[in-house]
Amino acid sequence: MSEPGIGKKTVRDVDVKGKRVLVRADLNVPLENGAVTDDTRIRESLPTIQYLLHRGAKVIVCSHLGRPKGRDESLSLAPVAGRLGNLLDREVLFVDDCIGPEVEQAVARMSPSQVLLLENLRFHAEEEQNDPEFATQLAANADLFVNDAFGSAHRAHASTEGVTHYLPAVAGFLMEKEVRYLSALVANPPKPFAVVIGGAKVSTKIAAIDHLLPKLDMLFLGGGMANTFLKAVGIDVGSSLVEDDQVETARRIVAEARTQGAAVHFPVDVVAADRFAADAHVTTVPVGQVPHGYMILDIGPQTVQRYGAALQSAKAVVWNGPMGVFEMEKFARGSFGIARAIAGLKATTVVGGGETAAVVARAGVENEFTHVSTGGGASLEMLEGRELPGVAALQDA
Ligand code: ADP
Ligand code: MG
Repeated sequence: MSEPGIGKKTVRDVDVKGKRVLVRADLNVPLENGAVTDDTRIRESLPTIQYLLHRGAKVIVCSHLGRPKGRDESLSLAPVAGRLGNLLDREVLFVDDCIGPEVEQAVARMSPSQVLLLENLRFHAEEEQNDPEFATQLAANADLFVNDAFGSAHRAHASTEGVTHYLPAVAGFLMEKEVRYLSALVANPPKPFAVVIGGAKVSTKIAAIDHLLPKLDMLFLGGGMANTFLKAVGIDVGSSLVEDDQVETARRIVAEARTQGAAVHFPVDVVAADRFAADAHVTTVPVGQVPHGYMILDIGPQTVQRYGAALQSAKAVVWNGPMGVFEMEKFARGSFGIARAIAGLKATTVVGGGETAAVVARAGVENEFTHVSTGGGASLEMLEGRELPGVAALQDA
């Protein structure tokens, strides 16, 4: 399959030589005592930064980190500058603000193919307020804006939306990849197209299912949200999590799917527990035979096997939402089993959602997927078919 276009200009479409390029990256990494404990997000930002460096741009990188209330040295991006420098194998300059005379002077001293990291954008409350004056000041030190922070694209902040009013704005490679797989692919998927949905609550998934429904050929249900669907088709789920106000909606979705000739797959067996706890008493039973007082916390092995077999014919798969409470070992097998099953397919395979990405990483199969989204909230909004403000603001291709 040729890669679907995203309808927006990217770094490939602009001349960057000698230009001052402001890159909004997502460097919101976990820190412990001032040290970076997981540099995945820094690594994901490298292709765009390296591309710009190789073409002689002056690369000015900005990001948020955590949720500071004003200046907070424990959330400084300074440690990230060091790690970014190691990964790029070159010096990364750092200034301890993101706007103002210090930044202006540092940028004025830059040579082509140098990198400067600015301090945490959220040290200024104006960032999240999308304050036009603050956006103007951010833009003042650059000739071009590149947004590569997909994980923040669902927020209209000064560094994701505001700044695009003052600079030509294009997508970076990570942004392009995310939009390509979560929007362009889903809009026109290779068929048969399978959607696997799990997670805790059905209410948070309805918008995504409704958006995907007209395109899909197979719908696989798991996780806590499947309980509401099971109840909708008359299966007793014991003390499991059910959203009673969503039972009608679940019934409508199943009916609509069947009307259009799509297959809806329900769990056939489940792992049920007497308590929501890691050391609960656990039993694996056919669905509909959950003992009194027990709750469903994972899909069972038969279900994993059946889902895996049915998925074999899919040409594209989108997965959002774990199949069980994978944070506890006793309820993790369903999610890991589905992760391995999808990873093994010869299909375009895409994972969206923060916890689902964690499942795939823990199963050790993240490199076997076509794309694992780096954005939690942003990826779900994309699956809902919503245009993200940080994407909408970029120049059309
Ligand atoms: P994502 O972040 O990938 O979008 P969600 O946030 O929708 O996924 O769902 C993740 C959560 O769903 C996990 O924390 C998991 O423990 C929970 N979950 C999965 N199955 C069940 C279940 N049967 N009962 C209760 N919670 C569940
Ligand atoms: Mg989540």
